[in-house]
Amino acid sequence: MSAHDLLYLVPTTVPPKVVRGDGVYVYTDDNKKILDGTGGAAVSSLGHGNREVIEYIKNQAGKVCYVHNMAFTNEPAEELAHMLVSRNPDVFARAYFANSGSEAVESAIKFALQYWQLRGEHERTHFVSRKQSYHGNTLFSLGIGKMISRRAPYEGVFPKVTSFVDPCYTYRHKKENETDEQYVYRLEKQLEDEFLVVGPNRIAAFIAETVPGAGLGCTPPVDGYFKAVRRLCDKFGILLILDEVMCGLGRTGTFHAWEQEGITPDIQTNAKTLAAGYQPISSVLVGHRVFKTFEESGTQLANFHTYQAHPLACSAAVGVQKIMARENLVQKVASTGKYLEEQLHKTFDSHPHVGDIRGRGLFWGLEFVKDKKSKQWFDPKHKVGALISKVGIKNGLFLNPGAGTYDGVHGDHLMVAPPYVITKEEVDTLISILAKSIDEAIASLPN
Ligand code: PMP
Repeated sequence: MSAHDLLYLVPTTVPPKVVRGDGVYVYTDDNKKILDGTGGAAVSSLGHGNREVIEYIKNQAGKVCYVHNMAFTNEPAEELAHMLVSRNPDVFARAYFANSGSEAVESAIKFALQYWQLRGEHERTHFVSRKQSYHGNTLFSLGIGKMISRRAPYEGVFPKVTSFVDPCYTYRHKKENETDEQYVYRLEKQLEDEFLVVGPNRIAAFIAETVPGAGLGCTPPVDGYFKAVRRLCDKFGILLILDEVMCGLGRTGTFHAWEQEGITPDIQTNAKTLAAGYQPISSVLVGHRVFKTFEESGTQLANFHTYQAHPLACSAAVGVQKIMARENLVQKVASTGKYLEEQLHKTFDSHPHVGDIRGRGLFWGLEFVKDKKSKQWFDPKHKVGALISKVGIKNGLFLNPGAGTYDGVHGDHLMVAPPYVITKEEVDTLISILAKSIDEAIASLPN
């Protein structure tokens, strides 16, 4: 048995073993150079091997690596909370740190539930979410999303407190000849109907990814969609949780993705680019409305993880966020993102199997179709997104495919979400390997 076998329950084809990373590239034990075109899972915003971030971690490690958050606070945790909250002092009052995106979502849900308990509205335990969403892997966060492939083994045990409405998915759901306003109106009406069917006084929160990643492949909302959502949540007093675990902290060309929507959330989650993969960490930013109720009742969130607000993780995040600000990386995402957008359109607009190219900033999705005119998918058994990803790795490019099957859609898409530090020349390399890999993968399919 090889060491590789110890990591998997059943035998798999051996994935490449990465031994080091440098900038936008990772290197395998057989010295293959792979462009990390999705920065892992839209994580590595600073690229790999950033010495400065490593120094932040080393520095903190020399002081103290761990203290228990229930008894102590620590310097980098305080500094990070200050950086995040003071950036939007009118919106957020508190920051809460956990270790993964799923934990952040679980915590956001608990904030919402406990908020209503404290307010005496004990009936408000229901959540409205969206089909084709992904909010995490732990049982509740999985249950509040619709990734069928990961839900399947546990389908019977999810708490029955979530209902699902359509996401804003222009390519497949917006009707021909329908204006953005008409489309938004249709989605708004559906959401309002759902609120009314469940009973608005039973609903704790509406949760959505501002720009969905894993489930829909970087599908930005049309103008006015989130304004309509915010309006409806306000009308019925329902909290709005925005899950920006993947799309937040600069990824779409603004620090928070909701800044482009003209709205603010009540609770927000972040994770991936918070410490850019140098340490595992996530955050929940708590808005004033929710905070005030906790403050008035003198109550803490009843949620404790052994490693929350971990000093090393917080020190990495402080370093990453300082570098982001100093190097104006959010603006860089917007400008390199424009270039990426142009190159994607120039190269793939006329490709017979690239049905849709959508995204924002450095967060782009390509959706693959068998037939462009009818938008017919490839046979799901071919897992075309995953196949192109695999061929890409062989050719020296990693792009994350849509992970699994969702309610009403299967993941024949790839996410192009490179590190914020990618150069235009590296974007060119990415596009040319991608073009080659798409053609090679599709040519290998049986007729
Ligand atoms: N929410 C969203 C929007 C995500 O994209 C993800 C991860 N892809 C999660 C939550 C879960 O994060 P994690 O894998 O770190 O638990």
